[in-house]
Amino acid sequence: VNSYLDSIKTTIFSVMSALAVEHSAVNLGQGFPDDEGPDAMKEKAAAALYDHNNQYPPYAGVAELKQAVARHSERYSGIPVDAATETLVTVGASEALTCAFLGLVNRGDEVILFDPQYDLYAPAATFAGAVIRTVQLDPNDWSVPHAAMEAAFSERTKLVLINSPHNPTGKVFSDEDLAFIAGLCVKHNTYAVCDEVYEHLVFEGSHHRSLRTFPGMADRAVRVGSAGKTFSFTAWKIGWVTGPARLVTAVAKAHQFVTFTVASSLQRAVAYGLDHEVAFYTGLGKMLEGKRAYLERRLKEIGFQVLPAQGTYFLIADFSTETDTDFSIRLTKEAGVTTIPVSAFYISADPPRTLVRFCFCKTDDKLRQACDALESFFGKRR
Ligand code: PMP
Ligand code: GLN
Repeated sequence: VNSYLDSIKTTIFSVMSALAVEHSAVNLGQGFPDDEGPDAMKEKAAAALYDHNNQYPPYAGVAELKQAVARHSERYSGIPVDAATETLVTVGASEALTCAFLGLVNRGDEVILFDPQYDLYAPAATFAGAVIRTVQLDPNDWSVPHAAMEAAFSERTKLVLINSPHNPTGKVFSDEDLAFIAGLCVKHNTYAVCDEVYEHLVFEGSHHRSLRTFPGMADRAVRVGSAGKTFSFTAWKIGWVTGPARLVTAVAKAHQFVTFTVASSLQRAVAYGLDHEVAFYTGLGKMLEGKRAYLERRLKEIGFQVLPAQGTYFLIADFSTETDTDFSIRLTKEAGVTTIPVSAFYISADPPRTLVRFCFCKTDDKLRQACDALESFFGKRR
């Protein structure tokens, strides 16, 4: 078998979800919401199976979804895109990201990834033959260390991957950091792949701005979105890419030979949702902020240190001395609550070792149950 893949373990999300099931633990590990998206979208998807044929849709996406993605881009990011040439529909953001590496990188090109990082990036970059350079975000506030970032660029750098709002930290990159990154991309003539799947999951007082809106970035950045995150339908696996036609075309060429196309009934339902279920996705940030506040208060009472965040449905907490992997396993088995060890999001050799990620897009009952279980396990220190 492929010796690179032979060295890779099963993804931490699957491992921890299986462990949660085995021990009947409350699963605050893998990121998926309890409250699903609008029923009207499920009805549209079901109706589409009967109202349209069920044969290969166009490889780049059905026209109505491409148009809805273009409208959504202009409305929420202020970036107009041409639906026909500057949008692409993919099997989730996952395929979009994989095809972005395959479509934009030549073997041996360097790509810059931040640590911590979503676990798909490094394998996908490696499939494309890229050489990975990593920059560790500052664990104090997850800001971009400017000197290290500058040092990561070389004449071989082909692209930088920016994920904001960020998984697993919940960090929304500051305009200052984004401007700095944009300046480096322009200076070194690189592309940027912007993983913006959590674009609507931002708390009050913060705002998400796409790197593509910064000077010089419109022609070199592609943005990736996900219906899984925007509509809390993670099973649907509908994603999209927007960007300059030349780059979207390259990503689409890879997509032709990875999956070719995407279930059309779900595409039509997502098109409907982007245009008509605006209240759902624009309300996500506020809804999640309340859940985060609850979890944060309870965890602090138990004695965890909770790291600040501006968005997403993830919260990182610092505990004491045990390594994070042992701690996550023990919490599942003994306290009945599943988390994700944050070191799993690092590819560099020296990750922080006492951080765990909680996913809080869960029912209030489930969050209470998890907090009660942790409190009876650890006691209340404050
Ligand atoms: N990027 C990030 C940062 C994610 O957290 C996820 C999903 N967990 C994805 C991409 C993949 O999204 P999708 O399910 O649409 O493939
Ligand atoms: N993105 C989700 C998370 O971060 C998990 C996705 C997956 O299980 N592959 O938890």
